[in-house]
Amino acid sequence: MFSIFKRKDPICGMKEERGSGIIEEGKWFCSKVCLEKYRSQTKNRKHEDHSCCSMKH
Ligand SMILES: [Zn+2]
Repeated sequence: MFSIFKRKDPICGMKEERGSGIIEEGKWFCSKVCLEKYRSQTKNRKHEDHSCCSMKH
């Protein structure tokens, strides 16, 4: 059983396919589209952390 080794795309939930996809930060992404989504989500979260010092109006 290799189920523990198998990775899953955190964005679309697709299971890792050998020989395809992208591995970034130990996570597997089925395509660049999902990788970009993951990156933008991480960026958004970081941005929220800075909301304390960027008051609106
Ligand atoms: Zn995906």
